[in-house]
Amino acid sequence: MIKIFNDLKNELKEFKPIKQGSVSMYVCGVTVYDAPHLGHARSAVAFDLIRKYFEYKGYRVKYVMNYTDIDDKMINRANDRGITIYELAQESIVQYEEMQRALFIKSPTVKPRATDEIPDMIKYIKKLDKKGFTYESQGSVYFDTGKMENYKSLFQKKEISEQDTEDEQFTQSEFAKDKKNIEDFVLWKKEKPGEPSWDSPWGKGRPGWHIECSVMAMKYLGETIDIHGGGKDLKRPHHQNEIAQSESVTGKTFVNYWMHNGFLNIDDTKMSKSLGNFISLMDMLKKHSGVFLRYYLINSYYQRPINFSMDKMDQTLQSLKKIQRFYKNLNEYSASNVKGKSIKGISEHKKQIKDFKEQFIDAMDTDFNSPKAMGYLFSIINYFNKSIFTKENQISVEIKEDLIEFLDGIDNFLGFINPQVKEEQEESGSIWKDRFEELTNTILDFRKEVKNAKNFELADQIRDLLIKAGIKISDQGNDYSWEIA
Ligand SMILES: [Zn+2]
Ligand SMILES: [Zn+2]
Repeated sequence: MIKIFNDLKNELKEFKPIKQGSVSMYVCGVTVYDAPHLGHARSAVAFDLIRKYFEYKGYRVKYVMNYTDIDDKMINRANDRGITIYELAQESIVQYEEMQRALFIKSPTVKPRATDEIPDMIKYIKKLDKKGFTYESQGSVYFDTGKMENYKSLFQKKEISEQDTEDEQFTQSEFAKDKKNIEDFVLWKKEKPGEPSWDSPWGKGRPGWHIECSVMAMKYLGETIDIHGGGKDLKRPHHQNEIAQSESVTGKTFVNYWMHNGFLNIDDTKMSKSLGNFISLMDMLKKHSGVFLRYYLINSYYQRPINFSMDKMDQTLQSLKKIQRFYKNLNEYSASNVKGKSIKGISEHKKQIKDFKEQFIDAMDTDFNSPKAMGYLFSIINYFNKSIFTKENQISVEIKEDLIEFLDGIDNFLGFINPQVKEEQEESGSIWKDRFEELTNTILDFRKEVKNAKNFELADQIRDLLIKAGIKISDQGNDYSWEIA
């Protein structure tokens, strides 16, 4: 039985899915204006572990993680670099997904982008409007928090977030005079000159950040979802506001279990772009393998902060090697000369393994406490190292196979016990790379024909679709070249 700590109610409770055997899960994604840093990896690995643990337990998981591809940071960065926000998003998404691959993170089931969902956001704001939860002021549309009874009681503790600052600046200082209540937040921002904007019933503008997640969660997962996750900094006001919007529209509970991961701190300060104390993930991956970084991150309970320190890396690497060596020794351990019952200590070995399996699963079942589970993994390793590998004692084929099977099973969500398997999977990806190149060339050859036939509109459409798929095209006269953006 899985128990989850629901952050909204501050209680550990048995997980009861809405639909038997399946889990709907939404995790607030990144703002795609830059390359990922170790803090992003922390959140991504935490929720990947949770998702895969559900799958290990036999659940079907639908996992939605969005990309926020419109906000002030995006606009400023794109302007600085002289590119469009679309190109900036594209580049950053490719880097983010490279990070996912390097850390053996399974791609989310759906990865919607905010700017693709704007018509739905407009519809949603209209619904809120019809129910009387909004008002217009100076060309922008606000959510009236005064209309929601329990608004103030949602998530008590505020932790500073990079992402709120924009909406807060917009709603709290500069525009405070436009609002009815200080906590009211913007649903639709009036266009500013020189910024990307979309048409709406309230004039040209763009959506507020909070509305994005409510809309995408409901569109892909339904009015009530099992789990909604994100960093602890998103509790207030982002998740508070998501609840306000969603529950005002549907009249139903938005999320049954709220889960938040702790920060990744450096010298006790949160790692963030705005503080300038971040470690780029690509820099980390030059020094350490993805398997190792995954292991490093899984060694912390997802709710707790990680205090990152370079000095601890070596020690952590030694403990990872210990696990991998154990797995290898166990596989190579020859149990061929063992004949059933005559083995010394067999019932004790069996008991040790049985206890270990139960304790490990119980730790994972209790709010995905991976470091506690790792503790049990080390006790069984130490037990075997002392009582079997270094002594005359033997294990039976049955015990050996049982333990290997269990370790292979848990490695589906841990991902670091047997890295060879993962490397093979990586290599088999090269077949797809070849096919991918072939396919891209075929499409671009077709586009050349389309251009020859002077159907430039269609040629541009094909180009735009390829850009959307992450392919950068350079036209050279009638020829072309391309690369992955
Ligand atoms: Zn959210
Ligand atoms: Zn969100």
